Amino acid sequence: MHVIVIGAGVIGVCSAWYLREAGFDVTVVERRAAPAQESSFGNAGVIAPGYVTPWAAPGMPGKVLRNLFASTSPVLFRPSADPAMWRWIARWLGECTLERYRVNKLRMQRLAFYSRECLHALRGKLEIDYEQSQGYLQLFRTRRDLALAEPALALLREHKVPHRLVDADGCRGIEPGLTTDTPLAGGLHLPEDESGNCPMFVRRLRTLAEAAGVRFVMDRDAGAPRPLPGGGLALDLRAVDHGTGHDAGHAAGGAPETLTADRMLVCAGVGSAALLRPLGLRIPLYPVKGYSATVQVSDELQAPLAALMDESYKVAITRMGNRLRVAGTAELGSRRLDLRPAAVNTLLKVARDWFPVAGHYGNATLWAGARPMLPDGPPLIGATAVPGLFLNLGHGSTGWAMACGSGRIAADLIAGNAAAIDLEGLTPARYGLGPR
Ligand SMILES: Cc1cc2nc3c(=O)[nH]c(=O)nc-3n(C[C@H](O)[C@H](O)[C@H](O)COP(=O)(O)OP(=O)(O)OC[C@H]3O[C@@H](n4cnc5c(N)ncnc54)[C@H](O)[C@@H]3O)c2cc1C
Repeated sequence: MHVIVIGAGVIGVCSAWYLREAGFDVTVVERRAAPAQESSFGNAGVIAPGYVTPWAAPGMPGKVLRNLFASTSPVLFRPSADPAMWRWIARWLGECTLERYRVNKLRMQRLAFYSRECLHALRGKLEIDYEQSQGYLQLFRTRRDLALAEPALALLREHKVPHRLVDADGCRGIEPGLTTDTPLAGGLHLPEDESGNCPMFVRRLRTLAEAAGVRFVMDRDAGAPRPLPGGGLALDLRAVDHGTGHDAGHAAGGAPETLTADRMLVCAGVGSAALLRPLGLRIPLYPVKGYSATVQVSDELQAPLAALMDESYKVAITRMGNRLRVAGTAELGSRRLDLRPAAVNTLLKVARDWFPVAGHYGNATLWAGARPMLPDGPPLIGATAVPGLFLNLGHGSTGWAMACGSGRIAADLIAGNAAAIDLEGLTPARYGLGPR
């Protein structure tokens, strides 16, 4: 049976791997020249099942409102006339209650814990190195930030997730490079959470998948999948000329190339909503923009050992080999991926606040990307109302943490098998998009 996977981000490549392992004939279609060039490229690299948190949380609407006009805010809202954005916000507001937060967080955690299991199994089997490090430390600058973390702490206690609240000295015991110059109210250490270089993992898995027989069709922009009268689906592809940024198919006036398959799996990240609209599948997916800065470590003793999160600024600082990645900011309302200087300055300020002499901050490599975010938080994995068409999308700010588990589940469902975890609240049925 032939399966086409649309999108070679971390979700698409993991799905392709597990589909091949399940015995399918697999083709991955990607508009970029290489895998993991969009959302999966410059992310913070944190894999924190213990602390996955929906963006829809109690206190968040207030935080957004308080910071509406502050350019250094960790969450920024840029009002625009885009009706999709207003629909998204209306749904998101409805998910910001404590009750909905708990439901959404538990769904995400269930998937993230399973995903970490799958990642470890894959890492053991394939011996993939992706600059992984162990442990995750949340930093709280003020008592107020610590108090805002209480609902998340209650869930950690309730679900017996190993964690430790530590004072400022305790934080420095875990991360000796932390400066004493920046006020620190305390920290939360999750010893079992981890981090790693997502695009490095994807590139290596792609090579192994190709060696195992997965076909990668790069530089092709896929149109909407088309159900065929006799069963199966067709996909029209246009060649993309990266030199001009134009659709080479149109430029050459050539007819699109068409592929057919028995099943299709959409893993197109933020591009998924537009791709699925012609099929009548309206996915409330909106891009939430973020930034990262990658810096060469210049002083090993003053640099972080693993991953940290400054909870006040929502900025992550992650060690990746001999570099550190600083990532954060959530901007809603702009679909452009330009680098906003104030956002980049905030990232670099936070890194300098904690590790002032760790790296060459002046020479940072900068990146902007968009998180494929659903209003409530958990992704959508599984069959749609269109026969043969499956989804694996909407992983928001935790797609790397959920990638292996999501890929494995998608492959299990396409094979007609039960998934290893309860899929309540994780399938397209949640938005009325499942099989009728
Ligand atoms: C600043 C920032 C920090 C983050 N930090 C973390 C973190 O610490 N931990 C974590 O778990 N997650 C993090 N994330 C989120 C994570 O990066 C995403 O959830 C994840 O990368 C989504 O993967 P994806 O494969 O769905 O999307 P993508 O990586 O965007 O892949 C989708 C692919 O589909 C292709 N595509 C789209 N449309 C078409 C089409 N029509 N034809 C052909 N190809 C198409 C795209 O080119 C792309 O390659 C962060 C994100 C950002 C922006």
